[in-house]
Amino acid sequence: MAGSEPVFDRILIVDDNPSIHDDFRKILCDQSQDETFVELASALFGDRFASGGGMGPAVAVRSEVASLAAGETFRVDFADQGLEGVRLAESAMRANAPFAMAFVDIRMPPGIDGVETTLRLWELDPNLQIVICTPYSDYNWSEMKHRLGRSDRLLLLKKPFDAVEVLQLASSLTRKRQLEYRADLRDAELQSLIEKRTNALRTLAETDSLTRLLNRSSFLSRLQRRLDGCRDIQDTHSAVLFLDLDNFKLVNDSLGHEAGDEMLIEISRRIREVCRRRNSMLHLREFQRGRKRTLDSAGADRLDDMTLPARLGGDEFAIMVADVRDSSSAEELGRELIEAIGKPIEWSDRKLFGGVSIGTVLVSGGGEASDVLRKSDTAMYDAKVRGTNQFSVFDEAMHRRVAKQLAIESGIRRALECGEFSLHVQPITCLADGKQVGFEALMRWFSDDEMVHTPDEFIPIAEENGQIIEIGQWVVHSAMQIASRYAQADRVNGMGHLTINVSRRQLIAPGFVESIVAALKRYDVPANWFGIEITETAVVETHHTIYDQLVRLRTMGFKIYLDDFGKGTSSLSFLNHFPIDILKIDRSFIVNETPRGTAILEAIVMMANALGIEVIAEGIETEEQRSRAERLGCTFGQGYLLGRPKPPEAWLGEPLARHHPPSG
Ligand code: C2E
Ligand code: MG
Ligand code: MG
Repeated sequence: MAGSEPVFDRILIVDDNPSIHDDFRKILCDQSQDETFVELASALFGDRFASGGGMGPAVAVRSEVASLAAGETFRVDFADQGLEGVRLAESAMRANAPFAMAFVDIRMPPGIDGVETTLRLWELDPNLQIVICTPYSDYNWSEMKHRLGRSDRLLLLKKPFDAVEVLQLASSLTRKRQLEYRADLRDAELQSLIEKRTNALRTLAETDSLTRLLNRSSFLSRLQRRLDGCRDIQDTHSAVLFLDLDNFKLVNDSLGHEAGDEMLIEISRRIREVCRRRNSMLHLREFQRGRKRTLDSAGADRLDDMTLPARLGGDEFAIMVADVRDSSSAEELGRELIEAIGKPIEWSDRKLFGGVSIGTVLVSGGGEASDVLRKSDTAMYDAKVRGTNQFSVFDEAMHRRVAKQLAIESGIRRALECGEFSLHVQPITCLADGKQVGFEALMRWFSDDEMVHTPDEFIPIAEENGQIIEIGQWVVHSAMQIASRYAQADRVNGMGHLTINVSRRQLIAPGFVESIVAALKRYDVPANWFGIEITETAVVETHHTIYDQLVRLRTMGFKIYLDDFGKGTSSLSFLNHFPIDILKIDRSFIVNETPRGTAILEAIVMMANALGIEVIAEGIETEEQRSRAERLGCTFGQGYLLGRPKPPEAWLGEPLARHHPPSG
């Protein structure tokens, strides 16, 4: 600090008497020239000073003056009149070398007096220390106080003055000014430090620590501010986009939290980038319109806040979007986000794929932030149940639909507790001779409102919210129990494989294979009575974990069925890489009788045969479909023509008495 700090050694003398100027000059400037100094001291102090010698009083005074002056030099400027003094102070300020103090005479006719001069000097520099010099007879302290106010920067010096007093004043007031400067500087430094720390704390409190995006509560308060800002403006729309990553929990569960965090950070970066692009576009548009800020009406604080992202928690994000004219411009932004988030994310030596479901709500004319966010969440939920990478705009009907979905969610919990689920079985048939070679176990839910829910209604919901793990456990136990009962009736040979549908979330859940082993033991059934049905889409990503699980199951004796082949990407090379025993060709290929469909089907069957994989044609409803499938090389078939899903006893007769109670 000391190196660069200004030195406050400048003193201003304002007095209309030139001889007083000389006196000041001698006291403040010339102490080093002993002779003059002695002369002056003699003039001021008379014999007391000049007669010196020994340790008499004159010596004492002399050494006092000398010690005061020692090492101190002042730069002194002189003015004959108040206004001239003010001008000198002004140019000193401009030169960045302000006076530390001023000695100001009280009367300087014909110019302004000392009090007026003081006022003007303070106007220029409120920190200037001022000593008003006045003869004994010539001052009225209370009048002066009245005009100048109370100040610790004002002193009186009575004339005729004493050199020691002048030096003391000069020395202590310049020093005071210097110390005040340091204190102010320190104060400013402290202030800026406090401001910096406060800002850092505010940022910490307002942002999410992982992604550095706004957090939920600050997002809600910003949204409320914006809504309040456009309460009376009906034609200005804002929108809130609610984003929920698809299958994020899968990444977390299968690859660990580190991968999950990496994914969230990368996706946040992409979201921020899309928002930044939109803001730049708005900037440009505003610029082209020649307007600086027209967007206040939307309640946005700054143009940069026009598209403002936040992380609400977990894998949920929200974006507040101002200046949205209609749902299509919100959708455009939604599509851009879906594309950005969908690009693969490199992690370790693998690629992670992020999907996202986006719901949006348009708002105009104010509203409650929490209400708006809830509606966008509802729209997101609607998008989610329609599949991955979907976008929905909120409308009132959606409310009812989503309420139904939520009812299913709580219904599933009740169904598990009250035993409302059951398994039906559908035969798998040899197309050549019509013999049943196995069965597929398919869930049915008989809810207490006498409704039968098919899996398509509740499995996707259960897959997303994780309930599928518990449901899957129940299915495995029930299927093995069925097998065990028919085995005891010695009908198992007629039943062949009983296949169990397993979703991706189950496959990657820790302990999945172990739970299957425990169930085999419990129902005392061998693994080779069962098939595990998985879909291509379930295994295409994060395939290392799933691959390992499938290999373990296969080694134990389970047959692996690839379900719904043709619904997804239908990668033929996939057949080569995955441990597959049987391929189930999706119903869409069986129904599609175009030459192109037929050619594809033929190619799939040929490829499968070449790899030693059996083929089942799914969804055969007509004799034509059956014979075409057979003609094209499918060995087995499944479909309403060959047998509908029914309770096991409908196909296999009554089982023996129950030996093992079902377990959840
Ligand atoms: P999926 O595994 O492909 O099962 C075949 C679906 O096609 C069944 O629908 C069946 O009833 C239906 N189906 C069979 N033949 C025909 C036909 O000729 N025509 C038509 N139009 N449909 C036919 P369902 O039972 O509604 O099951 C739907 C999907 O739900 C299943 O498709 C499977 O992916 C899933 N699912 C069913 N049960 C379970 C389960 O226990 N666990 C899991 N994770 N998923 C299950
Ligand atoms: Mg299946
Ligand atoms: Mg299928």
